[in-house]
Amino acid sequence: MTTARYRRIVLKLSGEALSGEQGYGIEPKIIQSVANQVKEVAEMGVEIAIVVGAGNIWRGKVGSEMGMDRATADYMGMLATVMNSLALQDGLENMGVETRVQSSIEMRQVAEPYIRRKAIRHLQKKRVVIFAAGTGNPFFSTDTTAALRAAEIEAEVILMAKNNVDGVYTDDPQVNKNAEKYDNLSYMEMLNEGLGVMDSTASSLCMDNDIPLVVFSITEEGNIKRVVEGESIGTTIRG
Ligand code: UDP
Repeated sequence: MTTARYRRIVLKLSGEALSGEQGYGIEPKIIQSVANQVKEVAEMGVEIAIVVGAGNIWRGKVGSEMGMDRATADYMGMLATVMNSLALQDGLENMGVETRVQSSIEMRQVAEPYIRRKAIRHLQKKRVVIFAAGTGNPFFSTDTTAALRAAEIEAEVILMAKNNVDGVYTDDPQVNKNAEKYDNLSYMEMLNEGLGVMDSTASSLCMDNDIPLVVFSITEEGNIKRVVEGESIGTTIRG
């Protein structure tokens, strides 16, 4: 059995990471691949909490740009994360991984309410906990949710899984062929350079609470395990 570098992690999945090539909605094959990768890490005894975004379904900012009230549009975004969370739960349970979804917006028929101590208990029992509905507050992001929950449950690291890029670059690698990948970075450098890895609220939370972040590609099977084993793929950001 290989050894894990971390005991407890938060895995942040953007909504897009669940959508496959069409960039919209939920692609069952991708859910399967992600679930498979999570299962591998769960089998190493690592305690895993997952925060899922909703960019594959709805983003509050887009709604507000179309004239909607921002808070209403954000609540829609949070509800969309619940759909992604349930899809992921389904994929994991199909593979025999025990999970619990905890929602920041009460929805007792489909998920437990978010209760920190209960989440920690689930993790100790090696259940994968999926945090749905973001922070429960408009004007925040699921990156901020990942930072907040990581601090609350005392996770040692946030693994930020991307489906279109394999780390943090000096510039957009899809536009600028000369863009170079960073192996390591500080939160201050990331903010000063305007690298757009995560929003400033999320970055500040990570920085103030000394939570490292690893940005990596989830497209290659087995990458979550590679990061957990300490292989240096992607970009590591620290305080
Ligand atoms: N959202 C929110 N509060 C939160 C988390 C999310 O209002 O605490 C809303 C917001 O509208 C956001 C949407 O949910 O656009 C989806 O989350 P996000 O954009 O972070 O998803 P991702 O980019 O990770 O797919």
